[in-house]
Amino acid sequence: SAGTVCSTPPWFFQHMFVPKGKTWQFAAQIKQVLNIPVIFVGRVNSATDVNRLKNEFGAEYIALGRALIADPDFIGKYEKKIAGRIRPCLACSEGCLGGVRSGQGLACVVNPTVGRDKPEFGKTDTPGQYAVVGGGLAGMEAALMLKLRGHQVVLFEKDKLGGQFNLAWLPPNKESLKEIVDYYIYELKEHDVPVIYKEATPKDLLNGNYDAAIIATGAQPAIPPIKGLDKFYWAEFLLDENLPENKKVVVIGGGLIGIEIASKLVDKNNDVIVVEMLNEIARGMEMIEKNMTLKKLQMKNVPIYLNTKVSAVDGDKVYLIGERQVLLENVDHIVVATGMKSHRPLADALKDKIEVHVIGDAKKVAKAQEAIRDGYMIAQNL
Ligand SMILES: Cc1cc2nc3c(=O)[nH]c(=O)nc-3n(C[C@H](O)[C@H](O)[C@H](O)COP(=O)(O)OP(=O)(O)OC[C@H]3O[C@@H](n4cnc5c(N)ncnc54)[C@H](O)[C@@H]3O)c2cc1C
Ligand code: SF4
Repeated sequence: SAGTVCSTPPWFFQHMFVPKGKTWQFAAQIKQVLNIPVIFVGRVNSATDVNRLKNEFGAEYIALGRALIADPDFIGKYEKKIAGRIRPCLACSEGCLGGVRSGQGLACVVNPTVGRDKPEFGKTDTPGQYAVVGGGLAGMEAALMLKLRGHQVVLFEKDKLGGQFNLAWLPPNKESLKEIVDYYIYELKEHDVPVIYKEATPKDLLNGNYDAAIIATGAQPAIPPIKGLDKFYWAEFLLDENLPENKKVVVIGGGLIGIEIASKLVDKNNDVIVVEMLNEIARGMEMIEKNMTLKKLQMKNVPIYLNTKVSAVDGDKVYLIGERQVLLENVDHIVVATGMKSHRPLADALKDKIEVHVIGDAKKVAKAQEAIRDGYMIAQNL
């Protein structure tokens, strides 16, 4: 199982930050020289993985761990005795390891039923007609679950299904997060949930004869008022085609998003400086990701200013004020990652005109686990 919990935690927990399949190779080599059963283990999270292990690696025994937390029906679905695609474990360790470690108890980012007393819900006795606005994780989970319960549902998305989570898998080593977006897109199609690609307006929702509107319109970056700050980026640099090279970049905000952008920027030899007004760095980041990313930034000599604010920007100069005053010169780009704010203008516009439920980041800025749980809960309650 590749190490021990204390000496090599990312390997031991088969975290998304270590390459998938290494333990499969080790097991195959060991199997060649032993005459006792060898069990293959490590990030087996799909039917394709099981087939590869059987056919390419000659596996006779396979162990599933977190994959069964993410989807307890894994084996039934693999054997086609239960309908549906396997809900993939993302190897994020956020809800399971993170939940246990924090004392909140076992949970799962992608499986909102974990840790609940009454996880099952069946078909509704009173089918209704619902509009879900916003095809991020919260909206997709709500739309899918409403449909599975027997309601009529349409999903409005003005851009791309996946919402912010389409950015979440772009930082280094986080590709596995994309799998949950693919899962929802597949399942929505499979269950004939109509997706209307347009920006929903109050008129769309009031004229649609809906019993209620579920507003899952997410969050947008919160930009602090800084004198002279007029040209800046947010998460655009996470896309390879936008990623600068050999530039000097100041990242304002050392939370999860700011640190991930910094990590992506240093891979292209950018000279990165992180400025954080609090005394804490990488706030909100999962423990293993945090340790590995901060270690990487340390090795790349990225200066991180804590308890420090950007007081002003003047052309290519950035002024910092904290325990001491610092002037950063010849700055090419500024990234502002100082948090998100809920975006729900539709909820205000529809108030008292139609039943409205606000879920996900639109209700309260949080993370994927909360967004999916909100989507599940609203479908359970309607
Ligand atoms: C760079 C980055 C990294 C992240 N990393 C992680 C991570 O590692 N782990 C984690 O748990 N979380 C992470 N998050 C946070 C996570 O992505 C969000 O908390 C979660 O995806 C929120 O989902 P949501 O459905 O509530 O909102 P969103 O994803 O914001 O979805 C809202 C959707 O509504 C659509 N929309 C808005 N208005 C309308 C309208 N009028 N009509 C139609 N459509 C509309 C938008 O286009 C969007 O698709 C990250 C976020 C970012 C930006
Ligand atoms: S929290 Fe993440 S790693 Fe843990 S079981 Fe769920 S998806 Fe897998």
